[in-house]
Amino acid sequence: MVVLRNVNKHFGALHVLQDIDLEIKQGEVVVLIGPSGSGKSTLCRTINRLETIDSGTIAIDGRPLPAEGRELARLRAEVGMVFQSFNLFAHKTVLENVVLGQVKVRGIAKDRAVKTAQELLERVGVGAQASKYPSQLSGGQQQRVAIARALAMNPKVMLFDEPTSALDPEMINEVLEVMRQLAADGMTMVVVTHEMGFARSAANRVLFMADGRIVEQNTPEAFFTAPRSERAKDFLSKIL
Ligand code: ADP
Ligand code: MG
Repeated sequence: MVVLRNVNKHFGALHVLQDIDLEIKQGEVVVLIGPSGSGKSTLCRTINRLETIDSGTIAIDGRPLPAEGRELARLRAEVGMVFQSFNLFAHKTVLENVVLGQVKVRGIAKDRAVKTAQELLERVGVGAQASKYPSQLSGGQQQRVAIARALAMNPKVMLFDEPTSALDPEMINEVLEVMRQLAADGMTMVVVTHEMGFARSAANRVLFMADGRIVEQNTPEAFFTAPRSERAKDFLSKIL
Protein backbone atom coordinates (compact mmCIF):
# COMPACT_ATOMS: atom_id res chain seq x y z
CA MET A 1 0.00 0.00 0.00
CA VAL A 2 2.92 2.32 0.79
CA VAL A 3 6.37 1.69 -0.67
CA LEU A 4 9.44 3.85 -0.05
CA ARG A 5 12.61 3.02 -1.93
CA ASN A 6 15.96 4.52 -0.99
CA VAL A 7 14.41 7.80 0.17
CA ASN A 8 16.79 10.58 1.16
CA LYS A 9 16.07 14.06 2.38
CA HIS A 10 18.20 16.92 3.69
CA PHE A 11 17.38 20.08 5.57
CA GLY A 12 20.46 22.05 4.56
CA ALA A 13 23.40 20.15 6.03
CA LEU A 14 21.16 17.83 8.05
CA HIS A 15 20.61 14.43 6.40
CA VAL A 16 17.21 13.95 8.00
CA LEU A 17 16.13 10.81 6.10
CA GLN A 18 18.85 8.38 5.13
CA ASP A 19 18.24 5.54 2.67
CA ILE A 20 14.75 4.77 3.91
CA ASP A 21 13.33 1.52 2.52
CA LEU A 22 9.90 0.66 3.74
CA GLU A 23 6.96 -1.44 2.57
CA ILE A 24 3.65 -1.21 4.35
CA LYS A 25 1.05 -3.79 3.41
CA GLN A 26 -2.65 -3.23 3.17
CA GLY A 27 -4.23 -3.43 6.62
CA GLU A 28 -0.89 -3.27 8.39
CA VAL A 29 -0.45 -1.10 11.49
CA VAL A 30 3.09 0.21 11.79
CA VAL A 31 4.18 2.09 14.89
CA LEU A 32 7.13 4.42 14.44
CA ILE A 33 9.15 5.25 17.53
CA GLY A 34 12.48 6.84 18.26
CA PRO A 35 14.15 9.77 19.97
CA SER A 36 13.06 13.33 19.35
CA GLY A 37 14.64 14.69 16.17
CA SER A 38 15.20 11.26 14.62
CA GLY A 39 13.02 12.10 11.58
CA LYS A 40 9.70 10.46 12.44
CA SER A 41 7.55 13.48 11.58
CA THR A 42 9.55 14.19 8.44
CA LEU A 43 9.05 10.59 7.30
CA CYS A 44 5.28 10.88 7.80
CA ARG A 45 5.19 14.20 6.03
CA THR A 46 7.04 12.86 3.00
CA ILE A 47 4.48 10.06 2.61
CA ASN A 48 1.80 12.60 1.72
CA ARG A 49 4.21 15.08 0.17
CA LEU A 50 3.92 17.77 2.79
CA GLU A 51 7.70 17.51 2.39
CA THR A 52 9.56 16.87 -0.83
CA ILE A 53 12.37 14.30 -1.03
CA ASP A 54 15.82 14.68 -2.58
CA SER A 55 16.09 11.17 -3.99
CA GLY A 56 14.31 7.85 -4.02
CA THR A 57 10.67 7.03 -4.73
CA ILE A 58 7.42 6.85 -2.81
CA ALA A 59 4.39 4.98 -4.13
CA ILE A 60 0.89 4.77 -2.71
CA ASP A 61 -1.14 1.73 -3.77
CA GLY A 62 1.23 1.07 -6.65
CA ARG A 63 1.30 4.60 -8.02
CA PRO A 64 4.38 6.79 -7.60
CA LEU A 65 3.82 10.17 -5.94
CA PRO A 66 4.40 12.79 -8.63
CA ALA A 67 6.14 16.05 -7.81
CA GLU A 68 3.10 18.23 -8.39
CA GLY A 69 -0.17 18.66 -10.24
CA ARG A 70 -3.63 17.12 -10.15
CA GLU A 71 -2.40 13.56 -9.80
CA LEU A 72 -0.48 14.60 -6.66
CA ALA A 73 -3.59 16.22 -5.20
CA ARG A 74 -5.57 13.06 -5.91
CA LEU A 75 -3.00 10.72 -4.37
CA ARG A 76 -2.51 13.01 -1.39
CA ALA A 77 -6.22 12.82 -0.67
CA GLU A 78 -5.78 9.06 -0.30
CA VAL A 79 -3.41 9.57 2.63
CA GLY A 80 -5.16 10.87 5.74
CA MET A 81 -3.08 12.67 8.33
CA VAL A 82 -3.75 13.43 11.98
CA PHE A 83 -1.38 15.73 13.82
CA GLN A 84 -0.53 16.42 17.44
CA SER A 85 -2.30 19.78 17.17
CA PHE A 86 -5.78 19.02 15.95
CA ASN A 87 -5.75 21.69 13.22
CA LEU A 88 -9.53 21.96 12.97
CA PHE A 89 -11.01 25.01 11.27
CA ALA A 90 -11.89 27.17 14.31
CA HIS A 91 -14.59 29.19 12.56
CA LYS A 92 -16.43 26.12 11.22
CA THR A 93 -18.67 23.78 13.18
CA VAL A 94 -17.61 20.21 13.87
CA LEU A 95 -19.94 18.98 11.12
CA GLU A 96 -18.65 21.55 8.61
CA ASN A 97 -15.09 20.51 9.43
CA VAL A 98 -15.90 16.98 8.31
CA VAL A 99 -18.03 18.04 5.31
CA LEU A 100 -15.67 20.59 3.77
CA GLY A 101 -12.93 18.40 2.27
CA GLN A 102 -15.43 15.92 0.90
CA VAL A 103 -17.12 18.68 -1.12
CA LYS A 104 -14.04 20.73 -2.06
CA VAL A 105 -11.47 18.00 -2.69
CA ARG A 106 -13.55 14.93 -3.49
CA GLY A 107 -16.37 16.74 -5.31
CA ILE A 108 -19.03 14.93 -3.30
CA ALA A 109 -22.54 16.44 -3.21
CA LYS A 110 -23.28 18.43 -0.05
CA ASP A 111 -26.17 16.29 1.24
CA ARG A 112 -24.21 13.08 0.84
CA ALA A 113 -21.16 14.65 2.50
CA VAL A 114 -23.30 15.69 5.48
CA LYS A 115 -24.64 12.17 5.83
CA THR A 116 -21.13 10.68 5.73
CA ALA A 117 -19.91 13.28 8.24
CA GLN A 118 -22.70 12.46 10.67
CA GLU A 119 -21.96 8.73 10.41
CA LEU A 120 -18.25 9.27 10.99
CA LEU A 121 -18.83 11.60 13.94
CA GLU A 122 -21.05 8.90 15.48
CA ARG A 123 -18.38 6.30 14.81
CA VAL A 124 -15.74 8.27 16.74
CA GLY A 125 -18.20 9.07 19.53
CA VAL A 126 -18.82 12.78 18.99
CA GLY A 127 -22.10 12.70 17.07
CA ALA A 128 -23.77 14.87 19.70
CA GLN A 129 -21.18 17.64 19.18
CA ALA A 130 -21.84 18.12 15.45
CA SER A 131 -23.20 21.66 15.63
CA LYS A 132 -20.62 22.96 18.14
CA TYR A 133 -17.42 24.82 17.34
CA PRO A 134 -14.03 23.15 18.00
CA SER A 135 -13.25 25.45 20.96
CA GLN A 136 -16.36 24.13 22.74
CA LEU A 137 -14.95 20.57 22.71
CA SER A 138 -12.34 18.87 24.89
CA GLY A 139 -8.97 18.05 23.35
CA GLY A 140 -9.89 14.39 23.10
CA GLN A 141 -13.13 15.22 21.32
CA GLN A 142 -11.34 17.60 18.94
CA GLN A 143 -8.80 14.95 18.05
CA ARG A 144 -11.59 12.46 17.34
CA VAL A 145 -13.19 15.05 15.03
CA ALA A 146 -9.82 15.40 13.29
CA ILE A 147 -9.78 11.62 12.79
CA ALA A 148 -13.34 11.72 11.41
CA ARG A 149 -12.35 14.53 9.07
CA ALA A 150 -9.41 12.52 7.73
CA LEU A 151 -11.60 9.41 7.33
CA ALA A 152 -14.18 11.44 5.40
CA MET A 153 -11.76 11.59 2.49
CA ASN A 154 -11.94 7.80 2.30
CA PRO A 155 -8.15 7.41 2.60
CA LYS A 156 -6.25 4.24 1.80
CA VAL A 157 -3.70 4.98 4.52
CA MET A 158 -3.89 6.96 7.74
CA LEU A 159 -0.83 8.67 9.23
CA PHE A 160 -0.91 9.68 12.88
CA ASP A 161 1.88 11.91 14.16
CA GLU A 162 1.82 11.85 17.97
CA PRO A 163 -1.98 12.16 18.02
CA THR A 164 -2.23 12.02 21.82
CA SER A 165 0.83 14.03 22.83
CA ALA A 166 -1.08 17.29 23.31
CA LEU A 167 -3.89 15.68 25.31
CA ASP A 168 -4.55 15.63 29.02
CA PRO A 169 -3.92 12.10 30.34
CA GLU A 170 -7.57 11.25 30.90
CA MET A 171 -8.34 11.90 27.22
CA ILE A 172 -5.59 9.79 25.72
CA ASN A 173 -7.47 6.52 25.89
CA GLU A 174 -10.59 7.72 24.14
CA VAL A 175 -8.45 8.66 21.13
CA LEU A 176 -6.38 5.46 21.24
CA GLU A 177 -9.61 3.46 21.42
CA VAL A 178 -10.84 5.05 18.16
CA MET A 179 -7.47 4.21 16.59
CA ARG A 180 -7.62 0.62 17.87
CA GLN A 181 -11.07 0.25 16.33
CA LEU A 182 -9.83 1.65 13.04
CA ALA A 183 -6.94 -0.83 13.07
CA ALA A 184 -9.35 -3.69 13.85
CA ASP A 185 -11.49 -2.58 10.89
CA GLY A 186 -8.48 -3.12 8.63
CA MET A 187 -7.20 0.42 8.00
CA THR A 188 -3.58 0.68 6.91
CA MET A 189 -1.93 2.91 9.52
CA VAL A 190 1.40 4.53 10.34
CA VAL A 191 1.43 5.80 13.91
CA VAL A 192 4.14 7.88 15.59
CA THR A 193 3.50 7.55 19.29
CA HIS A 194 5.03 7.32 22.75
CA GLU A 195 2.12 5.17 23.89
CA MET A 196 3.88 1.85 24.21
CA GLY A 197 0.71 0.11 25.40
CA PHE A 198 -0.88 1.01 22.08
CA ALA A 199 2.20 -0.16 20.19
CA ARG A 200 2.14 -3.51 22.00
CA SER A 201 -1.56 -4.11 21.54
CA ALA A 202 -2.32 -2.63 18.10
CA ALA A 203 0.88 -2.70 16.02
CA ASN A 204 1.79 -5.44 13.59
CA ARG A 205 5.28 -4.01 13.40
CA VAL A 206 7.41 -1.52 15.29
CA LEU A 207 9.95 0.61 13.45
CA PHE A 208 12.67 2.21 15.53
CA MET A 209 14.24 5.32 14.00
CA ALA A 210 17.41 7.15 15.04
CA ASP A 211 19.39 9.81 13.20
CA GLY A 212 17.25 9.60 10.08
CA ARG A 213 17.54 5.83 9.68
CA ILE A 214 15.29 2.89 10.39
CA VAL A 215 17.67 1.18 12.79
CA GLU A 216 15.52 -1.75 13.75
CA GLN A 217 12.13 -3.25 13.01
CA ASN A 218 10.31 -6.16 14.51
CA THR A 219 7.04 -7.39 15.96
CA PRO A 220 6.10 -5.47 19.10
CA GLU A 221 6.68 -8.54 21.31
CA ALA A 222 10.18 -9.09 19.95
CA PHE A 223 11.10 -5.42 19.90
CA PHE A 224 10.02 -4.65 23.44
CA THR A 225 11.37 -7.82 25.03
CA ALA A 226 14.60 -8.14 23.05
CA PRO A 227 15.70 -4.99 21.21
CA ARG A 228 18.84 -5.69 19.21
CA SER A 229 20.54 -2.34 18.71
CA GLU A 230 22.22 -0.29 21.43
CA ARG A 231 20.20 2.75 20.32
CA ALA A 232 16.93 0.93 20.82
CA LYS A 233 17.99 -0.53 24.18
CA ASP A 234 19.03 2.92 25.36
CA PHE A 235 15.77 4.49 24.13
CA LEU A 236 13.59 1.84 25.77
CA SER A 237 15.48 2.09 29.05
CA LYS A 238 14.54 5.77 29.17
CA ILE A 239 10.86 5.45 28.38
CA LEU A 240 9.74 2.15 29.92
P1 ADP B 1 10.94 13.73 15.10
O1 ADP B 1 9.53 13.82 14.60
O2 ADP B 1 11.49 12.33 15.12
O3 ADP B 1 11.11 14.39 16.44
P2 ADP B 1 11.51 15.54 12.91
O4 ADP B 1 11.22 14.77 11.68
O5 ADP B 1 10.51 16.52 13.36
O6 ADP B 1 11.87 14.52 14.09
O7 ADP B 1 12.87 16.32 12.75
C1 ADP B 1 14.07 15.68 12.37
C2 ADP B 1 15.17 16.70 12.30
O8 ADP B 1 14.91 17.60 11.22
C3 ADP B 1 15.31 17.56 13.55
O9 ADP B 1 16.68 17.80 13.78
C4 ADP B 1 14.58 18.84 13.16
O10 ADP B 1 15.11 19.93 13.86
C5 ADP B 1 14.88 18.93 11.69
N1 ADP B 1 13.81 19.63 10.95
C6 ADP B 1 12.50 19.26 10.91
N2 ADP B 1 11.80 20.08 10.09
C7 ADP B 1 12.69 20.99 9.61
C8 ADP B 1 12.58 22.09 8.70
N3 ADP B 1 11.42 22.43 8.13
N4 ADP B 1 13.71 22.80 8.46
C9 ADP B 1 14.89 22.47 9.01
N5 ADP B 1 15.06 21.42 9.85
C10 ADP B 1 13.98 20.69 10.16
MG1 MG C 1 7.84 14.58 15.46
